[in-house]
Amino acid sequence: MAARISSFLSRSSSSSFALLSRGTNSSLRRGILRYGTAASVEEPIKPSVNVEYNQLLIDGKFVDAASGKTFPTLDPRTGETIAHVSEGDAEDINRAVIAARKAFDEGPWPKMTAYERQRILLRCADLVEKHNDEIAALETWDSGKPFEQCAQIEVPMFVRLFRYYAGWADKIHGLTVPADGPYHVQTLHEPIGVAGQIIPWNFPLVMFAWKVGPALACGNSIVMKTAEQTPLSALYVSKLFLEAGLPPGVLNVVSGFGPTAGAALASHMDVDKIAFTGSTATGKVILELSARSNLKDVTLELGGKSPFIVCEDADVDKAVELAHFALFFNQGQCCCAGSRTFVHERVYDEFVEKAKARALKRAVGDPFKSGIEQGPQIDSDQFKKILKYINSGVESGATLQAGGDRLGSKGFYIQPTVFSDVKDDMLIAQDEIFGPVQSILKYKSTDEVIKRANNSQYGLAAGVFTQNLDNANRLMRALRVGTVWINCFDTFDAAIPFGGYKMSGIGREKGEYSLKNYLQVKAVVTALDNPAWL
Ligand code: ADP
Repeated sequence: MAARISSFLSRSSSSSFALLSRGTNSSLRRGILRYGTAASVEEPIKPSVNVEYNQLLIDGKFVDAASGKTFPTLDPRTGETIAHVSEGDAEDINRAVIAARKAFDEGPWPKMTAYERQRILLRCADLVEKHNDEIAALETWDSGKPFEQCAQIEVPMFVRLFRYYAGWADKIHGLTVPADGPYHVQTLHEPIGVAGQIIPWNFPLVMFAWKVGPALACGNSIVMKTAEQTPLSALYVSKLFLEAGLPPGVLNVVSGFGPTAGAALASHMDVDKIAFTGSTATGKVILELSARSNLKDVTLELGGKSPFIVCEDADVDKAVELAHFALFFNQGQCCCAGSRTFVHERVYDEFVEKAKARALKRAVGDPFKSGIEQGPQIDSDQFKKILKYINSGVESGATLQAGGDRLGSKGFYIQPTVFSDVKDDMLIAQDEIFGPVQSILKYKSTDEVIKRANNSQYGLAAGVFTQNLDNANRLMRALRVGTVWINCFDTFDAAIPFGGYKMSGIGREKGEYSLKNYLQVKAVVTALDNPAWL
C-alpha cells in the first residue's frame, strides 16, 4: 500500500502521471465544465450514498445533542443542505469526556494486551477498506473533493495509516536505564489518558486517521471534535469501528463548532491531551485554553506558506507539472501547499508560460465526475476570502496570467488562478490563501532564494526541484521547515513524520514520532539490597 500511495502521488505530480492526466483527456471528451468556459456548473450528480449517521457518538451510542440542536452540513457544489447534524456543545463534550474517562480508567482498552488492541485496529482498517467507495462518496459530497481522489488516495491512505498504527501497538515499550547507584531503573511508556482531538475540514478522513490511529495504538481514549463543515465521514467510520470491536467510550465523536464544542474540549479539566490541526490563529487559542485550564499536553499542526523552488537546471515541463500539483491539489486547500513558487530567472519566462497553459487545462467541475481534477471550495466564507486575495494580487501589481474569478454561478467553484511577477511583500506571497491561486516569484541565486524562502512566519514544508545534488543538499539543510520534498511533493506515507517549524506548529504527526504525542514516560526506580546485583 505504501508503494501504491507514494507512487500514485509521485505519478500525480509528474508530467506522466496516470490518473489526473487521464482525467483531463476524458473530461475533454465528455464536455465537462472546464476552466475557461463561461457555462454554469451543470446539474449536480446525485451521490450514491445516503447519510445514515448524523448524531453524536458518545459511549458507544449515537445520541442527539443535549440541547436538541442541529446544524446543516452543506454541499459545496450548490451550497444546499445535505443533512442536519446534531450540534454538540459544552454539555455534550462533558458527556463525551466522562465516557472517555470511564473507558480509560475502568474499561478494557488500556488494560487489553497490545496484541488484542492491534487486532481491533486491523479490523477497523479492514472494514473501512470494505466500504471504500461509500466512504469516499460521503467525503466528496460533504467536502467537494474529487471522488477519484477520495476513493483512490484518501480512503486507502486511511486504511494504510490504521494498519501502520496497528503494527505499532505491540511494539511500544520502555527501557532499562543504567543509573549510577544500587538501583534497578526502568521506564514504562504509558498512554496519557483522555485525548481531545480537533480536526479541520480540508482532509476530514486523513486528519481523523493521523490523530485517532496513534492515540488508540498507545491505549488512550478519545473525544474527537470534527470540523463543522465536514462532520459526515467520521461518523460513518466510527460506526465501523464499533462493529470492529472498539469498546464503548474509547472513541467519542462530537460534531459542532469551534468556539463552543472545540473550546470546551480544549479547556476541559479532565482531558489530558489536546491535538489540533487548523489555522495558526486558532492554534494559539488552543494553547491558551490549555494553559488556562489544566496544562494539558498540546500538539499543533498549523498553517503554512510553503516555498516550491525550481532551480536553474530544471526540466521545465516536469517542474511546471509538479509545481501545479503542489499548489492546486485538493483545490489548493492544503496547509502545506507549495504556495510560493520560486523560479530561477534562467527558466522563469518559459515556466510562467507553461504554468499558465497548465492551469488553463485544469479540469474543474462536479467532483463526482470522472476525470475531474478540481471541485468547489469548501464553503462561502473560503470562496469569498480567496476571491478577495485574488483582487489584492491584481491591485498590488502582480500579473494575472490565468483565472481570477469564480467559475459558473452556483456553488463555490473558482478558476485555477496564476499570478507572475509576485513580490515578497505582497499579501498573496505572505498569507495562506488556501485556494487555487499560484504565485510565481523570480529569483537569481541560491543564497537569495534561501533567505526569501525562510522569510516567513511559517515553516511547514518546502519543495525543491533540481537534478543538481549540491543544490538539493544545500537547500534541504538551509530551509527551516518540517518537511522538504525533493523532486516530489505531498508524499504522505504513514511512516513519514509531518509537522512544522516556527508558527506552523508544535510536535510531529505520523511515523514513530507521533507516538510521543500519546505516551508519557514513567521512571521506576527500585533499590537493590546488594550492589553486587548490578
Ligand atoms: P479553518 O480556518 O481552516 O476553518 P480553524 O482553525 O478555524 O481553521 O478550524 C479548525 C478546527 O478548529 C475546526 O474543527 C474548528 O471547529 C475548530 N475551532 C475553531 N475555533 C476554535 C476555538 N476557538 N476553540 C477550539 N476549536 C476551534
